[in-house]
Amino acid sequence: MTDFNQPLGGNQMPRFAGPATMMRLPTQASAEGLDVCFVGVPMDIGTSNRSGTRHGPRQIRAESCMLRPYNMATGAAPFDSLQVADIGDIAINTFDLKKSVGIIEAAYDEILKHKVIPLTLGGDHTLTLPILRAMKKKYGPVAMVHIDAHADINEHMFGEAIAHGTPFRRAVEEGCLQGDKVFQIGLRGTGYSAEDFDWPRNQGFTVVTAEECWHKSLTPLMEQVRQKIGNHPCYITYDIDSLDPAFAPGTGTAEIGGLSTWQALEIVRGCRGLNIVGGDLVEVSPPYDPSGNTALIGANLLYEMLCVLPGVKYAR
Ligand code: MN
Ligand code: MN
Repeated sequence: MTDFNQPLGGNQMPRFAGPATMMRLPTQASAEGLDVCFVGVPMDIGTSNRSGTRHGPRQIRAESCMLRPYNMATGAAPFDSLQVADIGDIAINTFDLKKSVGIIEAAYDEILKHKVIPLTLGGDHTLTLPILRAMKKKYGPVAMVHIDAHADINEHMFGEAIAHGTPFRRAVEEGCLQGDKVFQIGLRGTGYSAEDFDWPRNQGFTVVTAEECWHKSLTPLMEQVRQKIGNHPCYITYDIDSLDPAFAPGTGTAEIGGLSTWQALEIVRGCRGLNIVGGDLVEVSPPYDPSGNTALIGANLLYEMLCVLPGVKYAR
């Protein structure tokens, strides 16, 4: 077990002290030799309303200081069998969104040269498009579990093809997604037309609105997700605004009537058994998160993603 990096324990260094890396893991400059890497994309220039997600990765890392290695609910022991480290942030160009998208794609091309699963700390949802572009080059069109208040399939935003509300329209057009193996969970709110959620359905996506999730466990839904996706390479993209703003107010485009934290756990834990090739947690905006709870939830959901990756040992 000493062969694997371990999160720095609270009895070695107080939890509030030391460098704020994800889960207080060691850092390294590249993904070489890792099974899983945490990587930050500190970007908010793709947002349409309140900004601030550029501060997301740093705050998620800070709030991850309470995370301990073993998952008491599921028995997952990710640090017993996987080599994990924090490889830092991608140096986006904060003055140019299109250039930043190119920078992100090039960075993931580099990361994916290694046999590694990247888990990304966002950042606004624009960042998932360049990641999916890089994923396509390695895996072909991927399956996707997308948890969000929004479908993010706009044709344009203010005339622009690239923004945080368009990544999955572009991803479909570019052949990055296996449409019949895409699930969008938690969609809700007001739309530009009554047919807004029909476009993804017409691509073969399964749309599960927030209203369909209310008042119930999502464990049975995840059984269907696993059945449909099977062993196909699968990407998880978790937009924190899928949660109700009562839980996660620190985000830019909040919608009422969202998921609960326990439903979020059921969704991510329900991804166990999928052939997960990458994941991200996006849209945490610390300026709107005075308690830190939104970033805290983000840190925990990234840990839960780590716990369901292929190759994780379970202590029981
Ligand atoms: Mn989104
Ligand atoms: Mn959203």
